[in-house]
Amino acid sequence: MSTFQAPKGTYDLTPPRSATFLAVREAISAPLRDSGYGYIETPGFENVELFARGVGESTDIVTKEMYTLTTKGGDQLALRPEGTASVLRAALEANLHKAGNLPVKLWYSGSYYRYERPQAGRYRHFSQVGAEAIGTEDPALDAELIILADQAYRSLGLRQFRILLNSLGDKECRPVYREALQTFLRDLDLDEETRRRIEINPLRVLDDKRADVQKQLTGAPKLRDYLCDACKAYHEEVRALLAAAGVAFEDDEKLVRGLDYYTRTTFEFVHDGLGSQSAVGGGGRYDGLSEMIGGPELPSVGWALGVDRTVLALEAEGVELDLPATTSVYAVPLGEEARRVLFGVVTELRRTGIAADFAFGGRGLKGAMKSANRSGARYTLVAGERDLAEGVVQLKDMESGEQTAVPLAEAAAELAKRLG
Ligand code: ATP
Ligand code: MG
Repeated sequence: MSTFQAPKGTYDLTPPRSATFLAVREAISAPLRDSGYGYIETPGFENVELFARGVGESTDIVTKEMYTLTTKGGDQLALRPEGTASVLRAALEANLHKAGNLPVKLWYSGSYYRYERPQAGRYRHFSQVGAEAIGTEDPALDAELIILADQAYRSLGLRQFRILLNSLGDKECRPVYREALQTFLRDLDLDEETRRRIEINPLRVLDDKRADVQKQLTGAPKLRDYLCDACKAYHEEVRALLAAAGVAFEDDEKLVRGLDYYTRTTFEFVHDGLGSQSAVGGGGRYDGLSEMIGGPELPSVGWALGVDRTVLALEAEGVELDLPATTSVYAVPLGEEARRVLFGVVTELRRTGIAADFAFGGRGLKGAMKSANRSGARYTLVAGERDLAEGVVQLKDMESGEQTAVPLAEAAAELAKRLG
């Protein structure tokens, strides 16, 4: 161990577990890539004001969790705590919404930073894959995103996840509900901070995890009773499309994603094997966000799935991903001359697209064969002085244990044939 350790609340991804992370990112993004979503990458930090406005002044993310810094030039920046605000900012900046091709469908994958109390499934650096569909109001688009996330989780072999669904109303009906809720909440016995929250973002009080608060919330006005006809119809259509696609969901009227610009469809993916950090992903419609950050009216919908918690969910369910071995051929030279010759064969194999590795460092047969085994290679090539004198290499099938001498000049072609 060195003098240094990974900072508190972070961890390193190292082989072999890191391969699972790559596979999860790949599996989550595959359905998006097959559905018209283009890849977008934005900086790891943004102007702090973008998140203050685009995530919300009253959210935990902005009030408590952001890593902010002042540059030597005096700019106020923040490490990105989430993806949506940055992606929308970038789409507007590149005028993607003006290309006459709405919705603009984008996916991303990267690192996010939140100053949180570290615990299982909650880190200060974590990884998300996300999707945003910008500029179109269409219940089929909301349904598409939920269906694609469901498809992604299923393709990984996850089964114990549930989809929670709700509608938060729109700018017509939400304010009426907000006021009714505020009136109800003001009469409760709540602490200072929560009382402040009633005035800034009352819906988030519904999300309070404390039992004594939840007890007082029975009898709170329900958003469902306040939805306008347009919102009701929209929500029914999303539900019908999900049902038609065979995607099971649960109506959860307590599900609020407490940002002021969130509208209509909201959803969360929860996994039952994760304890208290059960949300593996979440998303929803954010029709007001573009205007909040100075853009035109662009009704949009998106989600972000947490890669770390998805891996934990796989582990909780005991799902082993079927990860193909990264190395197909492992070469073991015995002696100086063999080293030169087999290194040449390995180079040739790699150039023809066959994944190959080599026993570096002049190791003995036993140690080198151990490495060959560990590499997962289907074949090893072994050659010593006597083999070279005969112009052959020993090709060993690691599955059957069968070993055959193959003319050196034909080794690469023979391996290509056997590996299909
Ligand atoms: P939570 O309620 O657990 O704090 P959140 O609502 O803050 O989650 P989102 O902002 O919706 O989370 O982010 C989407 C996903 O990103 C989450 O469902 C989760 O899988 C993951 N995520 C969020 N914060 C963290 C974190 N600190 N560590 C690991 N994963 C995280
Ligand atoms: Mg959080």
